[in-house]
Amino acid sequence: MRRTLWIFVSAALAIFAYAQSASGAVSRQYMVENYSASLTLNFEHRRINGTEMIRVRANRGSINELELDADEIVVDSVLVGKKAQRFSQSVDPETGKGRIRIQLNRPLNRDRRLTLQVTFKGSPAKGLQFFDDQAYTVYNTSHWLVVNHDPSNLATLTLSLNVPSDMVVIANGDNVASKSTSDRLVSEWKEKRAIPDFVFGFAVGRFVQRNAAADKTELRYFGTHHSAAQIERIFHSTPKVLQLFSDKSGVSYPSKTYSQILANGNPQQELGDFTLLPNDYGDLLLKQPDEEWLLAHELAHQWWGIGVACRTWSDFWLNEGVATFMADVFLGEQYGPARYAHEIEIARNMYNGLKVSGMDHPLCYTEWKSEKDAGGRLPYFKGALVLHLLKKQLGEEIFWKGFRAYTRQYWGKTATSRDFQLTMEKAARTNLGGFFDRWVYR
Ligand SMILES: [Zn+2]
Repeated sequence: MRRTLWIFVSAALAIFAYAQSASGAVSRQYMVENYSASLTLNFEHRRINGTEMIRVRANRGSINELELDADEIVVDSVLVGKKAQRFSQSVDPETGKGRIRIQLNRPLNRDRRLTLQVTFKGSPAKGLQFFDDQAYTVYNTSHWLVVNHDPSNLATLTLSLNVPSDMVVIANGDNVASKSTSDRLVSEWKEKRAIPDFVFGFAVGRFVQRNAAADKTELRYFGTHHSAAQIERIFHSTPKVLQLFSDKSGVSYPSKTYSQILANGNPQQELGDFTLLPNDYGDLLLKQPDEEWLLAHELAHQWWGIGVACRTWSDFWLNEGVATFMADVFLGEQYGPARYAHEIEIARNMYNGLKVSGMDHPLCYTEWKSEKDAGGRLPYFKGALVLHLLKKQLGEEIFWKGFRAYTRQYWGKTATSRDFQLTMEKAARTNLGGFFDRWVYR
């Protein structure tokens, strides 16, 4: 019964490992505050054309050069105001990661801002998947937008998408404007929350749609391979999952809408305010409605991973371990303690397997050189197991009190393992140094 699920999980991890290989450590002296982009999707040639305004604020020093991430994107021009800036694109030989370096005509001083206007085009093979009837973004954003790919750089986004007029558009935040002509639709979306760039994204396609409600949130379900009635059945647990995570976190679901899209290929990706899941997973849920682990894991990321984001890849377990654990908690609440115990046993077995293969390392892992080193299965399964062990040590009441305090305190911000430890210690009124040393830092 579980084997089917693990096909999905393994595939998700494989994708992750692959996607992670294209990035490295980034330490830049500025943050992007806002991206405002217009993108035209050409389905016939599977190409994109874009213009993008990037508002940058300097953190320190007098900056003469800005470096941003751009993979599979060809930049045509960079302007500040009306003045063209010199730039060059290159690929880091060590990480294979694409970068753009922009020489500023005038240096940027600490706390000062400037807005870059970038025009670009591309035929991304990795960050954007085109099919005849749909297209959607996958990890990661630098393949279709010039970004500062750093999880600590939270930024707002306005995205305007020009697509065939018979397609439906889903993107981050709210749909603030739509304009259509006989053959094209321009759909504008605004994400007011500052979120990490790797959860920027969109999906467009000839989707059927069903809506539902959970508390104040409008739930939107989309697909192309299933009927509207099937889509409703597939996602019928979503309101319960959303309610449980709101209760456990002490933070209501943060946006007006949450969309789940069943798409071609094998996407398993959380994005700000929506999630992409494979059509096959929809088939599985029709046959086995209790296989909600993946649905719950991805929805959990709206709180842990997006609402509270890990500050660097060193603490990636705060995204993935927490989402894995919370999916286990949902299944326990829904189907009883034996199911929870079974899910934790899976995490334990996965972790033991990694240990036997010599792949164990601290959850808070600072030795990574590329995102790939910080990813893999460990943060998911060791992370979930360690949260379970901490809950066992502290007891349900204190654990959830601390967990709620952590989620609330770092909401809209980034967090580290140390932040999590200190919040849990405060709730427990005890020093957890021994536990964290054993399970998180060593
Ligand atoms: Zn995840």
